[in-house]
Amino acid sequence: MREEVIADLEWVIEYWEDLVESRIPGTRRPWRQPTLSAAAREARDAQARVERFERTALSLGESPAPVDVEILTTALSLLVAADDLAAEIAPTVMCPTLPPPGPGDLDARPYLRLVAGNLTEEFSEHVGETARWMVDQVARALCLVYDGQTLDVECPWCSEIGVWRVRELPGGLVAIVCHGVCEPPAREVGTWWGGQPVWPIADWERLSKHVQAADEKRAHEAKEQRRMAS
Ligand SMILES: [Zn+2]
Repeated sequence: MREEVIADLEWVIEYWEDLVESRIPGTRRPWRQPTLSAAAREARDAQARVERFERTALSLGESPAPVDVEILTTALSLLVAADDLAAEIAPTVMCPTLPPPGPGDLDARPYLRLVAGNLTEEFSEHVGETARWMVDQVARALCLVYDGQTLDVECPWCSEIGVWRVRELPGGLVAIVCHGVCEPPAREVGTWWGGQPVWPIADWERLSKHVQAADEKRAHEAKEQRRMAS
């Protein structure tokens, strides 16, 4: 239980920046790819620095960028919940409490890190409910932005490229759907929708490891083939 709750909190920490940045149309980054090469990471960071600079410049007089109210509302309610949890947990582990977020402050990560780093078995159930809700909220907000987006990856099971899409399914499940002719083994599938395998967005980290492993295997096989041919 404790590990699952921590994993949920870490997921929210991981996607926090995407959530907060996606509230301003035009600064939306593509959905995070499972692996980034050092060069790609550098390019992304450079881009982020430029965007940050532009935003600061903008805020100095020009009309402010339109803000997606729904995403901002989500981020704020998560921030409040994270601050509440941190304030509850800190005294129980003799950890100094963090100051509450100030005006204009939109970073829940320090509070979430405090909770994740000090979570005891005893508090896991209580925190777990909120953590699940947070994952759900972040996934839902990101889905507003990313719904329908095709992911530029090769499915490890059907080996087709560009067949994974982010979808909001009936019942509000935010998920990645493989639209290929795809039949992964049962233990690897979250659920099915219209005959297609579906993975809830919260499984993305696990899923990306599969993609990465399949990529590495292919690279290895290609190398072997070249070796045999020579
Ligand atoms: Zn597939």
